[in-house]
Amino acid sequence: MFKCEMGLYDMIVNLEKYFLSDDAEDSLQFSVDLKEIEIDGVYPFPFPVKVQANLKSFSNSVLLDIQFSYIIQKPCDRCLEVAKEEYSEANSYVIVTALNEEDQDGRYILAENKLLNLDELVYSSVITEFPTKFLCSSDCKGLCPMCGQNLNEGDCSCDKKQVDPRLEVLRQLMDHKE
Ligand SMILES: [Zn+2]
Ligand SMILES: [Zn+2]
Repeated sequence: MFKCEMGLYDMIVNLEKYFLSDDAEDSLQFSVDLKEIEIDGVYPFPFPVKVQANLKSFSNSVLLDIQFSYIIQKPCDRCLEVAKEEYSEANSYVIVTALNEEDQDGRYILAENKLLNLDELVYSSVITEFPTKFLCSSDCKGLCPMCGQNLNEGDCSCDKKQVDPRLEVLRQLMDHKE
């Protein structure tokens, strides 16, 4: 469904000092460029993802609080007009160098070599959360199945109640043949 060029991601943080110390703490701000990411034939992330991450030592592990906001811009699934929507996410993780059985929920990140690829984390969250239905507004009226008019811009004169749109498509095909 999506393509990605590996090598785009280079926000790699060395976590060594957070594992060695008890009170190391840093706050990072950066952006992730996803404009090359193609999903179903469109490039829905023309603007950089803005990320704020906090890293903190925590008893042989590292706490990561990460927040990011991004914009999806793509055609509405109903009316095909290009629409833009802003999303934001906030997640907390515990980064460990080895996983116990009971740690295997999404809250833990395994970093055996004490390296954390933040770009990849942001990328996979954004892709996982990508909406299966993207609408310009929740009450988008879509297109008339008969004439293709954008019904958000006004009603057309087709009688939508009586005709099954699938039969109508057939009828239009027949008309064209005559
Ligand atoms: Zn729409
Ligand atoms: Zn119509």
